[in-house]
Amino acid sequence: MAKRGRVRPFPAVKIGVIGGSGLYEIPGAKRLAEIRAKTPWGAPSDAIAVVELDGVPVAFLPRHGRGHSVLPSEVNGRANLAALKQLGVEQVVAFSAVGSLKEELAPLDFVVPSQLIDRTRHRPDTYFGGGIVGHVAFADPFCPRLAAQLEVAIREAKLPGGRGGETLVCMEGPQFSTRAESQLYRSFGAGLINMSALPEAKLAREAELCYALVCMVTDYDCWRDGGSDVDIQMVIGNLSRNAERARGLLPLLLPRIAAATRTCGCPDASRHAVITAPERQPAATRARLASILPRYFGPVRKPRR
Ligand SMILES: [Zn+2]
Repeated sequence: MAKRGRVRPFPAVKIGVIGGSGLYEIPGAKRLAEIRAKTPWGAPSDAIAVVELDGVPVAFLPRHGRGHSVLPSEVNGRANLAALKQLGVEQVVAFSAVGSLKEELAPLDFVVPSQLIDRTRHRPDTYFGGGIVGHVAFADPFCPRLAAQLEVAIREAKLPGGRGGETLVCMEGPQFSTRAESQLYRSFGAGLINMSALPEAKLAREAELCYALVCMVTDYDCWRDGGSDVDIQMVIGNLSRNAERARGLLPLLLPRIAAATRTCGCPDASRHAVITAPERQPAATRARLASILPRYFGPVRKPRR
């Protein structure tokens, strides 16, 4: 049923789920198709599974690939978000394992952050460039409407955590923080740290997707005196417990999101972003951008020689 490349076999798939560490599939969901997408930015982390859960079609993509073979720095964020957008996705719920920078955010809590501090260094983080300059607003890096829905679903699922308003630091990794860095981020007032919220959130905004993140706390990073520092065995143990809870959360979450109207600003995020004069925009760059923002850059033209 599914073809290779840019296909739209399920135009009604409007919700995307990006699975983080520990969440590589949605068990119990009815599998409709598997899409091996191609985008102008390359291939996504893995095949996108189009599944149906409680009547809601969902495009699921494991951020690090099935079997977890893609480092945070190696994740092709542009391809991942573009592939979801090309499928017809409008809202993306992402999951991520995080460290806690605050005593009250305990391991196994589910937290929906509202702010971000970017400490990544090695990742392409925009669809613009190549002759077309664009700047989108990013003051609120997550879709506030979608984030609020996630918080409600977490409370309904009676999972620990559920609070919003926290700031998430996204670091490059793959090594965990030094003690000095961990204390520095605490002094910023940040509550959570991960390696995967960016560039996803930036790219989702440029592609006019609603994007919000469920942070699943695995550890206390390394700031805590007397506490055991983050170690991968502890993280992995908590990852699998968190992934199980995330799977329990999805049936509560998805119908709510599917029924929502996008009253937020995300659907028009790039409408006024581009500064470059139209006659100066290279045709090849326009063609690339048209694959995710056809309203502004389509119809696709052949590159001029
Ligand atoms: Zn939105």
